[in-house]
Amino acid sequence: MTAAAEQIAECGGRGQSLRVRGGGTKFEWGTPAGDPDVVVSTAELDRIVEHNEGDLTAILEAGVPLARAQQEFASAGQMLALDPPLGAGAGATIGGVIATGDSGPLRHRYGAPRDLVLGMTVALSDGTVAKSGSRVIKNVAGYDLAKLFAGSFGTLGLILQVVVRLHPKPSQSVSAIGRSGDPDAVARGASALAHASLEKECVDVRWGGGEGAALAQLGGETAGAQAEAAARILADAGLEPAIVEDDEELWTEQRNGQRSSDRAVVRVSGLQAELARTIRVVESLGGSLVGRASLGISWVTLDPSRIGHLRRELAPFPCVVLDAPREVRASLDVWDADPSPLAQRVKHRFDPAGVFAPGTFPV
Ligand SMILES: Cc1cc2nc3c(=O)[nH]c(=O)nc-3n(C[C@H](O)[C@H](O)[C@H](O)COP(=O)(O)OP(=O)(O)OC[C@H]3O[C@@H](n4cnc5c(N)ncnc54)[C@H](O)[C@@H]3O)c2cc1C
Repeated sequence: MTAAAEQIAECGGRGQSLRVRGGGTKFEWGTPAGDPDVVVSTAELDRIVEHNEGDLTAILEAGVPLARAQQEFASAGQMLALDPPLGAGAGATIGGVIATGDSGPLRHRYGAPRDLVLGMTVALSDGTVAKSGSRVIKNVAGYDLAKLFAGSFGTLGLILQVVVRLHPKPSQSVSAIGRSGDPDAVARGASALAHASLEKECVDVRWGGGEGAALAQLGGETAGAQAEAAARILADAGLEPAIVEDDEELWTEQRNGQRSSDRAVVRVSGLQAELARTIRVVESLGGSLVGRASLGISWVTLDPSRIGHLRRELAPFPCVVLDAPREVRASLDVWDADPSPLAQRVKHRFDPAGVFAPGTFPV
């Protein structure tokens, strides 16, 4: 950790621009900027420092691959409830996932990275190594660094180490899926699932090629019976229900729908009640969609030339471009947002030298 912090301090002192690289699976996200003077890799920061099974917490260095951390937690029947797509070679690191605020279907029950990080140690460009939070769930003093750095895209400082909250891994899971070619039925099914009193790990939707589905994963000892109940709810909403006992593939497909190597992926922060309309817009543009039904967040995959249409049709929902060819991302505002004076002040406070990922955010 010391070597990385010293490297940061040197860059800050010399005014050299830098970008942090974890697994490199989301390195292209954000506004394309010129090449930085220095790329700081977190590959050496790869220690699982502590796994405290008793209090369901862990301390990880930022470069630990999420997949490796999950293996360690699973050996104790636990998990870090973060399941974003892991990218090429399953290379996503814990630091990269937190810095991009990325998440997967488990966000339905467990929240986003900011909800699962209890503490953080960061290196700033003035040479400071700052620490906030600890292994306790509640904490109050000073800046909540962990929440501020979640989704900061490497623009404020280098995440060195995080303290995360763990959860028991459900002993088993069974899923229920309801298929339909009617966007209203898919939205109705998703809403009914979201409101049902069942032990849901995930509640998702998908759409593509004129067909879609609402699906839920149920966990724990009674997962089978609960999935049966979910299937009945989907049937009542007018969908074609099915039970999927071996459901890993089903949810891998949902995660994979959040990335594309040749088309554009746009994350839409919309409204749950507008799901059917969102699906119709996506269908009319020849796109496909996966999303978290109860959170109103969707990942839309479509031809890059249709991004402008999507934004016009779905305004005022923020439509953030994640994956897209570099020239496309350079030709538009990937964030779909104006510079914010608050973000500018935060950036100036943490990185007065302006060396961290200049140009990535509109500040
Ligand atoms: C008009 C409207 C009303 C809504 N009302 C409600 C409501 O009452 N209750 C409810 O539960 N949900 C509501 N939603 C849905 C809600 O917006 C989404 O669920 C939520 O945005 C997704 O959470 P998020 O944290 O991922 O936000 P994001 O989608 O990540 O962020 C929202 C915006 O902030 C930007 N952003 C993200 N990270 C950063 C960063 N680090 N720095 C700078 N900018 C960043 C994004 O580009 C985006 O424009 C509403 C949505 C809309 C459009």
